[in-house]
Amino acid sequence: MKVLVPVKRVVDYNVKVRVKSDGTGVDVANVKMSMNPFDEIAVEEATRLKEAGKATEVVAVSCGVTQCQETLRTAMAIGADRGILVETDAELQPLAVAKLLKALADKEQPQLIILGKQAIDDDCNQTGQMLAALLGWPQATFASKVTIDNGKATVTREVDGGLETVALTLPAVVTTDLRLNEPRYVTLPNIMKAKKKPLEVVKPADLGVDVAPRLKTLKVSEPPKRSAGIKVPDVATLVTKLRNEAKVI
Ligand code: AMP
Repeated sequence: MKVLVPVKRVVDYNVKVRVKSDGTGVDVANVKMSMNPFDEIAVEEATRLKEAGKATEVVAVSCGVTQCQETLRTAMAIGADRGILVETDAELQPLAVAKLLKALADKEQPQLIILGKQAIDDDCNQTGQMLAALLGWPQATFASKVTIDNGKATVTREVDGGLETVALTLPAVVTTDLRLNEPRYVTLPNIMKAKKKPLEVVKPADLGVDVAPRLKTLKVSEPPKRSAGIKVPDVATLVTKLRNEAKVI
């Protein structure tokens, strides 16, 4: 079973992002970039499936600028066997990424595609769902447990107020939630080994995909600053303030 794992290069989760002064987007100049944390969980899960003898090959894919090669090397240091970069400087929206991944899935014929549930930069939570729709494959989003047996995937999903378990026939699309696993620490020997793993570079045109954005961002702004909290001397004052000032009771 071949597993395809799309990995996105995003602003590192420790960086406090700043909105550009002209309100056109987020400033990414000279900012530390890393693999989207949900995608690390996806690579870890695919690697564990390989180690358990359920998967035969793990292929990591990234769509974006040349530097996404670093993200692919990290995926290979975790355990992916090879990487594919769909190289472009164009702004990529989820539908464009889903189309690129569909074209790669047609070519690579994986039995399972594991994506992150969302990218922490745009918080879209769309690519996996769009990809499943384009492929016509079953999907299980927000996975907290994945078991593969006899051509079927059994996936526990994190849903509002509890867990849901679904059975899917492969090939299928799964998206990862935070509790699926804890990605391993990437060791130096594995970083060195990853440098020797194959990394193929293709362009969107090679896959016959038009990646032109379909949505226009009108404005990006900082969330309003929170005002400082206060301490109240007793419950009676708290209730009065909630009733008369906050007007929530
Ligand atoms: P999103 O729909 O943008 O929140 O992204 C959900 C998931 O789709 C991510 O966690 C990745 O697995 C995948 N993805 C999104 N954009 C890219 C990209 N440019 N390259 C590779 N994978 C991506």
